[in-house]
Amino acid sequence: MADLIVADVTKEYATRAEPLRVLRGASCQLSAGENLAILGPSGCGKSTLLHIIGTLDSPTTGCVTLAGQDPFQLAEPRLAAFRNHKIGFIFQDHHLLPQCSVLENVLLPTLANGTTTPAAAGRARMLLDRVGLAERLEHLPAELSGGERQRTAIARALVNRPELLLADEPTGNLDRTTAATVARLLLELQSLEQTMLIVVTHSLDLAGMLQRRMELNEGKLE
Ligand code: ADP
Ligand code: MG
Repeated sequence: MADLIVADVTKEYATRAEPLRVLRGASCQLSAGENLAILGPSGCGKSTLLHIIGTLDSPTTGCVTLAGQDPFQLAEPRLAAFRNHKIGFIFQDHHLLPQCSVLENVLLPTLANGTTTPAAAGRARMLLDRVGLAERLEHLPAELSGGERQRTAIARALVNRPELLLADEPTGNLDRTTAATVARLLLELQSLEQTMLIVVTHSLDLAGMLQRRMELNEGKLE
């Protein structure tokens, strides 16, 4: 059985006029170690779908199952704990905390249970080493290049050993060469960690590097 099942997900947004039907029965499945690109033009609902798969938003109808669990059956704060442990996010804009160092930013997801442990700190350093930032641990985000900030965001997304990694236009703010480097690192780490990865993008360059591609068209994946 697949480790991630997205079944017939619909999403409607209420508006002053007709409800806006963004997703109209989107379905896909993924197993451990697999990666998938979801392509589609701006405004087609890619971020909406990714937010639902990431449990940041709920579907109007349909179902998401991750590691045998339907997260939408969980009440807060169990849902927040589920998200924190099972899912890593990488956004187009790095979403790093400006007042925290690179190492502190990567450790943030491990602080949900209170204090950080030596094991977590060791893992954060290992991941930052893997993305080539071992010499930048004490830098602030403002002191990094765009590519370095996204590499920090990749390390942060992986620190809790998530089963699923979700990336929303992860190279959208980078020049072409930097984008290629960041994408390569993302795929290298995904393979090393054997997590599932979904990347939504309108970049054919990026989508071409993944194992599978689907297109979000009229609210469905094909
Ligand atoms: P993409 O990521 O593919 O560019 P989005 O998922 O961000 O697309 O948006 C899909 C559509 O849903 C857009 O038309 C957008 O305006 C609309 N939309 C997104 N979020 C909301 C919201 N919270 N309320 C109403 N409409 C929304
Ligand atoms: Mg988007």
